[in-house]
Amino acid sequence: MSENFKGIEPMIHNSKINVPYSWWAGDTASRFFISLRDQQKIIALRCGKCGKVFVPPRKVCPSCFTENTEWEDISSEGTLISYSVARRQFESIPKDKKVPVIWGLIKLDGADTAILHYLDGINPGEVAIGLRVKAVFAESRTGSIRDISHFVPVK
Ligand SMILES: [Zn+2]
Repeated sequence: MSENFKGIEPMIHNSKINVPYSWWAGDTASRFFISLRDQQKIIALRCGKCGKVFVPPRKVCPSCFTENTEWEDISSEGTLISYSVARRQFESIPKDKKVPVIWGLIKLDGADTAILHYLDGINPGEVAIGLRVKAVFAESRTGSIRDISHFVPVK
């Protein structure tokens, strides 16, 4: 501590800062988001060595460290493998989502990994692991994961 601050009690002031920023999504995520935005298609990357199919796509297979180059269309339907229900309106929940909000971990048909997204059109008490769900695309798409508005149960 500097001589200038001897005898001065350290103070902590709590506040918030807002720092706008932007970054390049990368070629893999960009292709995924463009497909959602322009074609309303969910695409995946397959590992050419072990065959695992990644959604969201991963540039490199985490199992065998092979660069994934085999793009394929993937079903917009899948199976709920886990979920969580928020009953309080947290700051991180978008304003267009009203509690209770359900997040689901969804393994799309043909994929080996799962995607985390909102689940709607069902009461929290009726949600169960193994539920069949399908993606609902947003009417206005901007090239983000929110181009999938949410998932709903398959009727
Ligand atoms: Zn692999």
